[in-house]
Amino acid sequence: MLPYHSLEEAQVALGRELTFAETLWFNYSAKKPDFLLHCHNTLFLCLFYSIAPVPLMLIELGGYNIFLKHKIQPAVRRTFKDMLKSYKNVMLAFAFAVGPLQFISYPTIKWIGIRTDLQLPSGWELFWQLLVYFIVEDYLNYWIHRMLHVKWAYEKIHKVHHQYTAPYGYSAPHAHWSEILILGIPSFIGPTLVPGHVTTFWLWFILRQLEAIDTHSGYDFPWNPTKYIPFYGGSAYHDYHHYVGLRSQSNFASIFTYCDYIYGTYKGYKYIKQMRKKDSPYSAIDDNDYKME
Ligand SMILES: [Zn+2]
Ligand SMILES: [Zn+2]
Repeated sequence: MLPYHSLEEAQVALGRELTFAETLWFNYSAKKPDFLLHCHNTLFLCLFYSIAPVPLMLIELGGYNIFLKHKIQPAVRRTFKDMLKSYKNVMLAFAFAVGPLQFISYPTIKWIGIRTDLQLPSGWELFWQLLVYFIVEDYLNYWIHRMLHVKWAYEKIHKVHHQYTAPYGYSAPHAHWSEILILGIPSFIGPTLVPGHVTTFWLWFILRQLEAIDTHSGYDFPWNPTKYIPFYGGSAYHDYHHYVGLRSQSNFASIFTYCDYIYGTYKGYKYIKQMRKKDSPYSAIDDNDYKME
């Protein structure tokens, strides 16, 4: 909620005209309590999870050859029923785990200084803050994910996420509720270290969600713009981790690949890539190749 009753009052307080973006923000947020703005995150989470995997679903169900040639595990085809099952499970987790967590985290969000004022972030501020959020989360998730592969944690928790040896868009956030909560913690560490505007906070969770859907898509499209992001793992990279499952000691990183390089958890994937010697190493890989790790 903004401390101004009208646009004119805001302009007088700022001593200048509002930009177009600031006017939009004023019109949208001026009368909304900060708590409601914070809760938009849950709304965006549900919205983007519902919409973003739709093109992937249509590709999978349509069975068009032009797309199927980029499928990482072509032998596995998903049905609408499979996707609906994942969708229901994830929405239940959002409703009973993520939603309540966001609800109770509001005092923490205020305490770390996520602001809702008229000073919208500049392009540079947005870029650097999001970069920090991605790097911090990726590093912490790498270690949490490695710990989830300890036999006890895998059997009790992480196995739920790994039930999809060939992941697909709607399976991206499908995990045990405790894993969703545990892996949610690193998402808050970046904003705690470098707090920004609530719109940056929204964008962070939206991009993180889209990234997870992309890496679980099951397709390795050569035209995917993420291929231009340095050290970005992508779908083929994470798909390998899913295929190998419990035995996997490779590809723990969720976003970038550098942790796997530094800590030596890249060897299995590197071996497979060297064996295939193809641009798209998963395009025609067979089970025996995977299981040689
Ligand atoms: Zn795993
Ligand atoms: Zn996964």
